Amino acid sequence: MRLDNQRESENVEDRRGEGGRRGFGVGRSVGIGTVILALAASYFLGIDPSVMLGLFSGGDIAPAPQSVPARRPPAGDEMARFVSKVLADTEDTWRGIFRQTGRQYQDPKLVLFTGATPSACGTGQTAMGPFYCPPDQTVYIDLAFYQDLKNRFKAPGDFAQAYVIAHEVGHHVQNLLGIMDKVQAARSRAGEAQANALSVRVELQADCLAGVWAYHADRVRNVVEAGDIEEALNAASAIGDDRIQERSRGYAVPDSFTHGTAAQRVRWFRRGLESGDLKQCNTFEARQL
Ligand SMILES: [Zn+2]
Repeated sequence: MRLDNQRESENVEDRRGEGGRRGFGVGRSVGIGTVILALAASYFLGIDPSVMLGLFSGGDIAPAPQSVPARRPPAGDEMARFVSKVLADTEDTWRGIFRQTGRQYQDPKLVLFTGATPSACGTGQTAMGPFYCPPDQTVYIDLAFYQDLKNRFKAPGDFAQAYVIAHEVGHHVQNLLGIMDKVQAARSRAGEAQANALSVRVELQADCLAGVWAYHADRVRNVVEAGDIEEALNAASAIGDDRIQERSRGYAVPDSFTHGTAAQRVRWFRRGLESGDLKQCNTFEARQL
């Protein structure tokens, strides 16, 4: 990626090294069962149980306490700078797209943490992988996940790392558009297999929205270099449910998929990437995923 001339986002908060001391046990109204469910899910999926956290939990989720002022990453921290620049690029992309349709984009926050940190969706943990928490409109990421992406999922490269952020920001876009609420309502009336099928559509849509971002990063801001798109496609494929399940249990159980297969994730990312058009990302109406 060519990010030299890109601005950094103001919306990154650095909680690395805090060891989760900040405000634990205060204002957390998500039940322990929810957290266990989310952790169990993340054990099998390896990534991003945000939707589960958002969708299993009912009702009044209090925002995480903000008694300590947000700390910005230190200057000269290469990884934090990279994340800030990618987040800024998603802000520019989505502000533009929302403006075109007469809406106003609200930037999400992004929290860097190590180990564990409180969120409005319960305690965020490294093992859960990166996630988006709808009630506090925040993306949470322990950068250790990038090591996993490279070593465990065999998906190296800066654009693969950027795709992970763009996917989480995709969930934020879904939240702003009211899609998260609608899906949550539908899921509460659905059986388990049907609820999982809805999750797959949420996740594939986030992949498509990441592709829409990649289109604009490429065509408008020219940040994409040779090999970058392949890196993102490789990452999308590597974290497909079928691949992850086959790796962790030796077989795949389609009804338990909540993110989509490798082929589906690649297809929807590509669809956003090739069109740059939000309207192409309607996974809920698609007959074939
Ligand atoms: Zn996701």
